[in-house]
Amino acid sequence: MSTIKQEAERCLKCKKAMCSAHCPAATDIPQVVQLFLDGKIKKAGEILFYNNPLSAVTSIICPHERNCTGHCVRGIKGEPVMFYRIEEFVSRFYLETLDIPEIKKNGIKVAVAGSGPAGITMSLLLLLNGYDVTLFEAEDSIGGVLKYGIPPFRLPREILDMYKDIMLKMGLRFRPNTRIGTNIMIEDLFPDGYKAIFVATGTGRPNKLGLIGETLGHVHFAVDYLKSPAAFKLGNRVAVVGAGNVAIDAARTAIRRSHSHVTILHFMGEENMTANHEEVEMAQLEGVEFIHFAQAVRIKEDSVRCVRVNRIENADGTFSFEEDYSDVFDVPADSVIIAIGQGPGADMKAAGVKLTQKGLLDVNEYGETTLPGVFAAGDIVSGPKTVIEAVAFTKKVFSKMDEYMKSETR
Ligand SMILES: Cc1cc2nc3c(=O)[nH]c(=O)nc-3n(C[C@H](O)[C@H](O)[C@H](O)COP(=O)(O)OP(=O)(O)OC[C@H]3O[C@@H](n4cnc5c(N)ncnc54)[C@H](O)[C@@H]3O)c2cc1C
Repeated sequence: MSTIKQEAERCLKCKKAMCSAHCPAATDIPQVVQLFLDGKIKKAGEILFYNNPLSAVTSIICPHERNCTGHCVRGIKGEPVMFYRIEEFVSRFYLETLDIPEIKKNGIKVAVAGSGPAGITMSLLLLLNGYDVTLFEAEDSIGGVLKYGIPPFRLPREILDMYKDIMLKMGLRFRPNTRIGTNIMIEDLFPDGYKAIFVATGTGRPNKLGLIGETLGHVHFAVDYLKSPAAFKLGNRVAVVGAGNVAIDAARTAIRRSHSHVTILHFMGEENMTANHEEVEMAQLEGVEFIHFAQAVRIKEDSVRCVRVNRIENADGTFSFEEDYSDVFDVPADSVIIAIGQGPGADMKAAGVKLTQKGLLDVNEYGETTLPGVFAAGDIVSGPKTVIEAVAFTKKVFSKMDEYMKSETR
């Protein structure tokens, strides 16, 4: 494998960099690579951090094939530059050696609900701009999906400790195990002096299959399982229903933690899987079995009943999928993990903010909800997306919140 310096030397530093154009955070990749080659690593880290405070995370878990790496011109005829390896090194070094800057406080108090990627990004931006930030989190640690979803073998947890440490040193007040919308309501916050509230509570509620057997004792939702895999006894044979990134994370975790034989059941073909190609490849290498064109129709005590799905080519060249009830089969399973997507919880229903049909927060292009002073970003606004998309929109919302709070206190 090439060294990161060799990777940087391969970068053409294109004037119209396609890698940057396809980065949701518009990272100036040629500039960072040049600084790295010039030995100005701290400066490169600073540029990354101020553009994307979570670059130490996204460099590891971004779907690079869809963003920077997937659009590198070097990749047209050969191997694309793996910028994310340079970014990971630079970002981590920057965090590890960060001297907390002296920040002049502006005396304005802000509440942030939820400490996932959107909540952390907003808290950092607010702290760096002199705000007094109180971060409310339903769980006992910061990170959201970074802590309670993505397995540690994909994202080392000490990165989150670094972020927490940095934010506390900048003056963050952290209220763990506190759920906004149940005991503390949004309307309780304004009388205590908060000028604005940022909601980033994510989509932690798993979608149901709606099948008979879903409540049985050996059936679990992937996001519940990934939260604390050690709490689950899965047995030798595990069937995972679903084929997105969450399904793959659950499957790979089950192999590691329970040494189970894991089968992924997917109602479409491999080309229709929403999981990242690299993750699927890793799962296959680790022994995860894939059964495609299998629609789960019932969960039994020891198996999942499936119906074969036929892929039919339509006259216009598109495809449709039809269940064939003459072809029914059972996939043996001591445990079943369901991973067919997530939606928002019910906490915001009582908050008086307008919700979309899917129960997400209804916001305008600047993240303003229908309640003055209440802003939102991340998955609770977009539905399940990616970390870098949560960061990118949060930055935009920060600019609007900053403007709003300064005008309110004038
Ligand atoms: C298993 C899994 C794997 C993934 N893998 C990747 C990946 O490899 N790469 C990638 O880019 N994206 C991945 N994603 C998607 C990515 O993690 C999300 O898009 C991102 O975490 C969204 O950030 P967020 O801050 O909006 O929400 P979240 O990360 O969900 O954080 C929300 C936080 O709010 C807290 N909270 C909820 N309700 C309340 C409340 N009422 N009061 C206070 N706090 C509350 C939650 O406890 C949580 O800490 C994955 C998602 C999952 C589930």
